[in-house]
Amino acid sequence: MPEIPELQHVAKVLTAQLAGQAISGVDIQEPIVIRLPREDFEAGLLGARIRAVRRSGKFLLFETDRDSVMAVNPMLNGRFQWIDGPDGTPKAHARTCFTLRFEDGDTGLHADPPLGIRYIDERYLGKVYLADADELDQVPVLGEQGPDALDPALDQEAFLQRLKRHRGQVKNTLVNARFIAGIGNAYSDEILFQAGIHPFAKISGLDESRRIRLYEAIHETLNWASSIAAEQIGNRIDRKPREFLRVHRKGGRACPRCGHGISEVSPNRRVTSFCRPCQPE
Ligand SMILES: [Zn+2]
Repeated sequence: MPEIPELQHVAKVLTAQLAGQAISGVDIQEPIVIRLPREDFEAGLLGARIRAVRRSGKFLLFETDRDSVMAVNPMLNGRFQWIDGPDGTPKAHARTCFTLRFEDGDTGLHADPPLGIRYIDERYLGKVYLADADELDQVPVLGEQGPDALDPALDQEAFLQRLKRHRGQVKNTLVNARFIAGIGNAYSDEILFQAGIHPFAKISGLDESRRIRLYEAIHETLNWASSIAAEQIGNRIDRKPREFLRVHRKGGRACPRCGHGISEVSPNRRVTSFCRPCQPE
């Protein structure tokens, strides 16, 4: 599942390449991911100009000059890929769901033939919406999610206040978008390793200093990973680099901090990786 470090960079690259570009073609190959009638999707996007692409939680929001927004929830595997883009031309993906083509306007782009992006999704689990900019709160999940994990308004004080309303296991809480948005299975493992907190520890069992440590670890981890992800992704926005992570899916390997073997368990079919000595129960 793409999370903040990847999506942050992808939004930046998409904005750099697409801001000011008008959509000159909409091709739908797999309408299942598009959560509105395909005619409405096509008519809503055709001719619209992209203003910017921003990230909110795990959503990518394509803002247009029609004050509408294409909101993309990539879920487990959804991602974008350039066609004839600045990264050379990756092969068409077998599971292309839809393609947007852009006129090569006067924005300094020199793509020839015109630039395009395809949305690809191995499992068709992603969901794509088109909404008025002032009605984004009606987009499922997006409208119900809590503040973004990197929202400047979510300072330590606000975070501690929010945490008081949650009682479950700390990992479950971190991945709960209603608590804070943008953190998934991989980065919750990394954050808890950074904080030295056991993933199945109960929130109610964490004292004030551990709660503050958790807040700090969120920022330390996401900032650390964002710069590495940006470097490794570059213009290849379909990439999701994870090899550099320290514990997630590194079961059996040596902990980079203490050398002990990393534990991996899969309750509810979701892989959780952690180091027992570094994250005692
Ligand atoms: Zn360790």
